[in-house]
Amino acid sequence: MTRDWCLARDAADPLAPLRALFAMARADADGVIYLDGNSLGALPAATPARVATVVEDEWGAGLIRSWNSAPRPGGPNQGPAGWINLPQIIGDKIAPLIGARAGGVVVADSTSVNLYKILTAAMVIAVARTASPSSGRFRVLSERSNFPTDLYIADTLAREHGCELVLADTDDLPALLDSRVAVLMLTHVNYRTGRMHRMAEITAAAHDAGSLVVWDLAHSAGAVPVDLMGADADFAVGCGYKYLNGGPGAPAFAWAHPRHTAWMDTHDWRQPLAGWLGHAAPFAFTPDYRPGAGMSRFICGTPPMLSLAALECGVDTVLAADSYGGMAAIRQKSLALTDLFIALVETRCGNQGLTLVTPRDAADRGSQVSFAHDTGGYPIMQALIARGVIGDFRAPDILRFGFTPLYTRYVDVWDAVAHLEQVMTTGEWREPRFAVRAAVT
Ligand SMILES: *Cc1c(COP(=O)(O)O)cnc(C)c1O
Repeated sequence: MTRDWCLARDAADPLAPLRALFAMARADADGVIYLDGNSLGALPAATPARVATVVEDEWGAGLIRSWNSAPRPGGPNQGPAGWINLPQIIGDKIAPLIGARAGGVVVADSTSVNLYKILTAAMVIAVARTASPSSGRFRVLSERSNFPTDLYIADTLAREHGCELVLADTDDLPALLDSRVAVLMLTHVNYRTGRMHRMAEITAAAHDAGSLVVWDLAHSAGAVPVDLMGADADFAVGCGYKYLNGGPGAPAFAWAHPRHTAWMDTHDWRQPLAGWLGHAAPFAFTPDYRPGAGMSRFICGTPPMLSLAALECGVDTVLAADSYGGMAAIRQKSLALTDLFIALVETRCGNQGLTLVTPRDAADRGSQVSFAHDTGGYPIMQALIARGVIGDFRAPDILRFGFTPLYTRYVDVWDAVAHLEQVMTTGEWREPRFAVRAAVT
């Protein structure tokens, strides 16, 4: 492996043209190598103009009329529609990326808020399906290593419903799936280690125990192929600002299997944040609540149009890969990039105390690579960032590197590892300035 070999791979990369869909000129001029698209996707080239159009034309000129009719950006399947339809329109664009059907995905709120709504649905339906609810299913089962917001939300919800959140190590999950478990709540790709669960297998095991499964796709959507319907999953939520490139704080999404939205419809079920825009007829302005059909009930209040416009541009960058092999090509390149990174770090920084925590087996790996370092996790990353190689740090000891096949090049991997080697072998990371902790790590 040489730098030239990496350049040759870039030249032969079928996804290479997609990098032009991102505004990378500033990063390139600054010598930045961006390996943090798993935390905040890069800016799509189309976003600034699109947001400006929404501000100046749709808001400025169209004013309130834009809720009913706002011109849509060009391209296929982008006929005229008002702002009010954007949560479903973008949901329909995300659907094929996660193996959902059209109409099955709604965009709203944040991942945390969506999890609150979706996990409530899962708990209610899991208990309602149990023959004698009192003998019951009173547990939400999750992993101790799950993303904290998921655990906080689940713990709070469980307490509200007189249930309990049970946390286990990953390998102990199957043994804990029993008749007490209402819901198994997992994040598909672990934010810290990059380990990916086998969705279909675990879902089947949960169903065998009579439990329902909620999947958090925050580190999956746009990064790895997901087939919710194929896996017979029950519920999912996911994030708009990571691999979907929707911008900081972008709205998130929610999905429920059609068998569960059918249950919600026949039971007139209302989600816990039953706001007016999830009502069946918001503009009837009746004092009583009637849930909208299917996933539309999961909308609470007025959707944020500027953020949705940016999110749509981000989702479009992933959909653009369809002309170059789609999610299968994204996955293939993702694994090639992460394999290369692992191999280069281990050969060039072999005796520097860096321990791979991401699975070597490609089937168990998302689109990131993490290394643990006993004492230097934070300062090593700060030293890298000072050199323009941007990854991030996750306490207590993880250096995290995300790979976005839409814009990450093989030569970026090579150059990033060259910097890491210098940071490690010169001891540069021990400089006191790199130990100063920022609010966001
Ligand atoms: C990024 C991430 C979130 C983010 O939640 P927000 O509500 O957007 O802050 C939630 N869960 C997981 C697993 C994540 O990786």
